Amino acid sequence: MRYPHFVTTFPLLGEPLAVDLANTIARLRGRDVDLIADDAGLTAWLSLHPQLGAVDGDELRALRGAIREVFQATAETRSADPDAVTAVNAAAFRCLATLTSTSDGPVVEWGGGPLPVIARSAVEVVAAASLRGCANHDCVLFFAHGDERRKFCDTRTCANRARQARHRERHAQA
Ligand SMILES: [Zn+2]
Repeated sequence: MRYPHFVTTFPLLGEPLAVDLANTIARLRGRDVDLIADDAGLTAWLSLHPQLGAVDGDELRALRGAIREVFQATAETRSADPDAVTAVNAAAFRCLATLTSTSDGPVVEWGGGPLPVIARSAVEVVAAASLRGCANHDCVLFFAHGDERRKFCDTRTCANRARQARHRERHAQA
């Protein structure tokens, strides 16, 4: 299946790692699409996050489901599914960061494998209290805002669409 251009390159990259993973579910024409459902999508996403190395697709998608539930509950300030919280915690507990001395200075080595690193990122995102869901109801993307006033994932797409909808509404009323 072919995706519109903005999705083939993944929407909204550059968010914290766990948010980037959560955003591999995107809504297109009213339907939620899994951008890492097949090997091609998974490989493309992992190539953007080379620090993770090899990842089992099923395990990654399962962790994503738990993270999305935790993020959704955070954005909506409601209780999260306890199973999702347990899954994120179980993975995050296995994240071991240690320092290794090199001639270029100490570098961090992430023990426990890639999934614990992503789960740890999810915990940090919630701790930072900056997570939001996009205010466009047709959008399921999350972002970590650096600006309290930011309501949309992207100014070119979602904020623009909301502006056009308000414009249409005003004209419909006139
Ligand atoms: Zn959006």
